[in-house]
Amino acid sequence: MKIVFASGNRGKLREAGEIFSGFEIVPISAFPTWNAPVENGSTFLQNAVIKAEAAAAAAEGEIVLADDSGLVVPALNGAPGIFSARFSAEGTDAANRKKLLAELSGINDRSAYFLCTAVLIFPDKTVIAAEGRCYGKIIETERGNNGFGYDPVFVPDGYEKTLAELSEEEKNSISHRGKAFRKLIGAADLHEIS
Ligand code: IMP
Repeated sequence: MKIVFASGNRGKLREAGEIFSGFEIVPISAFPTWNAPVENGSTFLQNAVIKAEAAAAAAEGEIVLADDSGLVVPALNGAPGIFSARFSAEGTDAANRKKLLAELSGINDRSAYFLCTAVLIFPDKTVIAAEGRCYGKIIETERGNNGFGYDPVFVPDGYEKTLAELSEEEKNSISHRGKAFRKLIGAADLHEIS
């Protein structure tokens, strides 16, 4: 079964291909009329639906997958949250991590979690959504070269390694994205959005 994934993020595309193995994952960039929409929602769910609907318009007749995800740090009042990709002025993964470590400097509570809201839109316009979370803590110095984004500074609960030190398979087995995507696949925990 073919699924069009509404993301240009190479890290996410790689993970989606692995988690949805058995499906044919096609990047939305393969559709010439695709234009990345402005993600101006105020929740992960709203932004995921914005991306999925824009992709469904460009890839008519296809099943479309989108996700919106980010890191939530309670000691920073939930930041970077939905602004995770553009937390720093530069908006690069490295600059975002640097800003995060600077803002957490001197703060004892370094607990954090990744959240992923994933959405599937079917050709008949049915929308299903699922959420996954991965809890852990932010360390003080980056470690590891795998993954993307905040992975080198995030150690999941029950682990010593950062997400960037785990293999892709290990990360997908515990990650927010792995959990949300598997819920969609299994249709066990889906809810419909009217
Ligand atoms: P989105 O593409 O608008 O959903 O933004 C996702 C952003 O959240 C990424 O650019 C990363 O900064 C962060 N993020 C989401 N998922 C992960 C992950 O699995 N590891 C590390 N950072 C992540």
